[in-house]
Amino acid sequence: MKKFVLHSEYNIINIQSYKDHFGDYLITKPLEESFINNLHNFSVMSRDAFQNSLYKILIDKNIKEDSIIVNAASFDYLVFKDRFLIKNNPHLILDGALYLAKILNIKIINIVLKDYYSEEKNILIKAIAEAEDAGFAYDIKINIYDEQTYYSENHDRITPLSFENKKYIFDLETITQITYLAHIGEFSFKNYGAHENKGTYILSMSGDIISPNIYEFEMYTPIKNIIRAAGGTIKDYSIKCVFTNGFLNPPIDFISFQNMTLDYECFNSFNMNIGNGGICFIREDRCMVRVILKIVQFAKSVSCTKCMPCHYGFDLCEYYINKMLLGNSDNEDYINLKETLEMINTGSICLYIKKLSYCILSSVDMFRDEFLYLIENKVTLYSFIKD
Ligand code: SF4
Repeated sequence: MKKFVLHSEYNIINIQSYKDHFGDYLITKPLEESFINNLHNFSVMSRDAFQNSLYKILIDKNIKEDSIIVNAASFDYLVFKDRFLIKNNPHLILDGALYLAKILNIKIINIVLKDYYSEEKNILIKAIAEAEDAGFAYDIKINIYDEQTYYSENHDRITPLSFENKKYIFDLETITQITYLAHIGEFSFKNYGAHENKGTYILSMSGDIISPNIYEFEMYTPIKNIIRAAGGTIKDYSIKCVFTNGFLNPPIDFISFQNMTLDYECFNSFNMNIGNGGICFIREDRCMVRVILKIVQFAKSVSCTKCMPCHYGFDLCEYYINKMLLGNSDNEDYINLKETLEMINTGSICLYIKKLSYCILSSVDMFRDEFLYLIENKVTLYSFIKD
């Protein structure tokens, strides 16, 4: 990972090295009212699907929740920063979570991990034991769950709907940013980024780029520099589109993307959010019909099947695309595919699914020619994905 500014350049996995680096956990310090008010000035502290401001959540007296969820079980497609953050510095996460619990006067922190994060789970268990021994968590209970155990104990499945209904739910990146901000102070934090966009962002770069990885950049960095830092794109191939926000934004053409900067206004001007920071590059010879089929299958996998448009809609999309790939379709199927996606977008309950279906719909529109070529010729324009 590129070490631009905030994140540690080496792993801090024991509490002594954490204390040497940052000092005691924030929970030992008096709570400063100004800290919460300052969050108002940092747009980087608004990062869920709704782009809710952390400041507004922390000052909202109408929220009646008795626990905090630390979300390390996110289902975003091709976004892979959670494991890095846990392995790199588990104390940074615990410190921030305990600090939030203190601000909100909450006594239970539930950390929810992906079922297969067993190594990360052990790292966190060790870090919690150290924090408890050091007296940093004496009256706050920290529970660690995987998706299965969270469901069996709380009767609440980890789904887009359950996450969107909860207010005190924080992703790992936001929590680590809070900890940094609180430790280094507002004035130091403001050295990073430019104009109204202060702080840094972690991006998960994947697809047809030379060095796919996670990178940290100051806000307002030109996207051209970000692409260069990731080694650039593959020589001899142009990029036909880029997916951002982990497939929750419409795809964008490469020329427009290269002219953007990493800031909220710029993304908003393209009807996009920076969101979870997932960026995926697609080169010219990839078959977009198959790429879109993959996104549909991912959408199916996160659907909780509670509402009809999402539950049956993605199945139907998969059916139409497979029918095209098998050479058994006509133009009617392309229209049906688009109408199904419109139905999902209009009728689904979750914002996450609305955004995902809009991304798929926009992709089907943008690559209409590839679909129509397939329907007419019974073979895709780019028959096989190479490599
Ligand atoms: S849109 Fe409906 S089925 Fe899909 S995840 Fe949300 S609640 Fe569940």
